[in-house]
Amino acid sequence: MQQHEHLNLNVRGLTLSATVAINERSSRLIREGRAIAKLGLGQSPFPVPAAVVETLRANATQKAYLPVCGLEELRTTVADYHRRRANIACTADDVLVGPGSKELLFLLQVAFYGELVVPTPAWVSYVAQAQIVGRRISLLHTSRERGYHLTPAELEELCATDPKRPRVVVLNYPCNPTGASYSADELSALADVARRYKIVVLSDEIYAELHFGGAHVSIATMYPEGTIVSSGLSKWCGAGGWRLGTFVFPAQLRWLLDAMAAVASETFTSTSAPIQYAAVTAFQESMAMERYLWRARRILSTLTTSCVDALRSAGLDVLQPDGAFYIFPDFGPLREPLAQRGIRTSPELAEYLLTELDVAVLPGSEFFRDRNELTLRFSLVDFDGAKAMAALEAMPPEVPVDTAFVEAHCRTVVKAVRRVAAWATTLSHA
Ligand code: PLP
Repeated sequence: MQQHEHLNLNVRGLTLSATVAINERSSRLIREGRAIAKLGLGQSPFPVPAAVVETLRANATQKAYLPVCGLEELRTTVADYHRRRANIACTADDVLVGPGSKELLFLLQVAFYGELVVPTPAWVSYVAQAQIVGRRISLLHTSRERGYHLTPAELEELCATDPKRPRVVVLNYPCNPTGASYSADELSALADVARRYKIVVLSDEIYAELHFGGAHVSIATMYPEGTIVSSGLSKWCGAGGWRLGTFVFPAQLRWLLDAMAAVASETFTSTSAPIQYAAVTAFQESMAMERYLWRARRILSTLTTSCVDALRSAGLDVLQPDGAFYIFPDFGPLREPLAQRGIRTSPELAEYLLTELDVAVLPGSEFFRDRNELTLRFSLVDFDGAKAMAALEAMPPEVPVDTAFVEAHCRTVVKAVRRVAAWATTLSHA
């Protein structure tokens, strides 16, 4: 791509985020008549819960700029939510609301002076944002054998090279792209290292409510003084396009919250007022919200298990996720037959799936894995979540959500994954 000479050096070479690009490309192919399964973009398939939509409707006339840190009632509700759900000691004063957690992550990178440490595979934007603001980045490539979990030893090794360097470490669990989460023991061991080196932990818990067992544990309970918890409406409340994210800070990091609020006051001013009023309903405790989350988890865990099983039986190496809506299969076992067909890298593999099998996915290289590692991220969201939830609601409680359920209600996803599995089977038998 030709770059204009007056472009800031930090944004030269920057292109549209890979997730946005694959979505636009698959939409174009669909308009041209192709039946593409859109497993590229990480968007919740479920509708915004009815009570939350109703609050938004009732507050459509809210038009004032709200406080830069967020509506007081929302900040109180978000603090209550984190105390209730994850046992995090916090108050309204510790909460910062923004137009999406992505924007808050960006503000953090603008305000914090230090290195950004990112275990891979990782969501695309942490690194791109660091590049935009000219921040130093350290990637820590985790191993598949250990379920892509960052180990305390790996973190320690990095920190020991320059123990006094200020650092933010991003931990994202359940993880985009792997769906993997950490156990309490693992988090506790990472917390020990973080405390020793005074690292700020950015705990990206945007998928916490989609932990299949409803058993998410936050590192903030083990390292309260140094952890910022990131959440928002996009993934568990189906409201990505509403743009609302939240950060919760410990009192010890109030200086960082204040600095980010100052930057926010000079950039987006405040988050959309009607959306903030509606978000109060989403973060409040209610039976309706519990039922909604229960149904979302049931559908997603059955769907992921069924897709993992299909790909495993075709000889692929696939880890079973703990939550969210992604799987991250490794086609490494088929390296030889793939190479015979000229497919040697994850982008080539993703391109083949799109052009030959009508399945849009993202290559592992977009998540900072080596191009030669044959990993792909499948986002299992191309189905009508409202219909699937309604079907589940209508079922007697004793009827299990099983493969037949996802075959009927998540048909495009199941068929696409089986198409890939069938192709992989023919390769392994070739
Ligand atoms: N963090 C992770 C891991 C994500 O996958 C995403 C969205 O895809 C975000 C943060 C940003 O979410 P939002 O800006 O919609 O709150």
